[in-house]
Amino acid sequence: MSAIVKDIEALAQRIGRRLPPVETNFPLKVPAHFIERIATCDHDGLLAQVLPTAAENQTVPGFSADAVGDLNARPAPALLHKYHGRALVMLSPRCHIHCRFCFRRHFPYEQTLGQAAWQTTLDYLHRHEEIHEVILSGGDPLTLSEAQLTDRVRALEAIPHIQTLRIHSRSPIAAPALTPQGRFLHWARHSRLNKVLVVHCNHPDELSKETAEVLARWRQAGFTLLNQSVLLRGVNDQEATLEKLSHSLWAQGVLPYYLHLLDRVQGAAHFEVSASRGIALIQYLRQRLPGYLVPRLVREIANEPCKTPVEVI
Ligand code: SF4
Repeated sequence: MSAIVKDIEALAQRIGRRLPPVETNFPLKVPAHFIERIATCDHDGLLAQVLPTAAENQTVPGFSADAVGDLNARPAPALLHKYHGRALVMLSPRCHIHCRFCFRRHFPYEQTLGQAAWQTTLDYLHRHEEIHEVILSGGDPLTLSEAQLTDRVRALEAIPHIQTLRIHSRSPIAAPALTPQGRFLHWARHSRLNKVLVVHCNHPDELSKETAEVLARWRQAGFTLLNQSVLLRGVNDQEATLEKLSHSLWAQGVLPYYLHLLDRVQGAAHFEVSASRGIALIQYLRQRLPGYLVPRLVREIANEPCKTPVEVI
């Protein structure tokens, strides 16, 4: 059994279902753990996140290749600097999973590769003393080898004004067995940096015994664990699903942080849920959950100085 499946026929065999072949410009990619979760759940909310559909090839007004203005916020090829005090480093162009709604599905990652791009990033971070937090993103930064990842974070730790390392990753949820747990966590235990891991989980059925184990190891290494979800039509746009997601995350030591309205990226329009529906869902969660288990409903708007809260009165 291969750890990652990259064609529809193989996915169909693994989950025991017929799946229609569809050509899109964003290839299918699903890791073994996520396939197991698809196969064991009784709905299509997980499969829909990874299965290419003909709807992706439709042109929909208002949906663009660069939905959140990443391309205009790059002082260096692998660096985004949008918000005060924080900068985002695209450490890897790869992910273990391809989410059909990904806001970076059209990003020109080839420009972020190589030693020159990394050195330009480090030079920028050294010069900008107001940056106190570095966010590792991609792609998925946890697709690097333990050795590469540890080398990169050591270089960031050596910049005196950086206080916090934040990692954005879907690996602990989608591919726990492929998530660094050895040398990198050893470094983390002894690092002077504040450490935050923001995972990406959209549905409670993505969580398992394996995700709990890997998340526990990261927590023991000193990481604060948060989750961000995307509100997706047909996946998690029901009250009971989001309520269970908050409970299930917390059972694994993860606090719900953001619930994002969909970034309006070309190919993902069929996943969009309206802001008014998002507000209604959050109002429901507020009545059912303690405040710390209610995620903040936000939208990212290009050129804004922060994520924009979607107001719930
Ligand atoms: S893991 Fe994140 S970056 Fe990778 S495809 Fe999914 S949403 Fe996009």
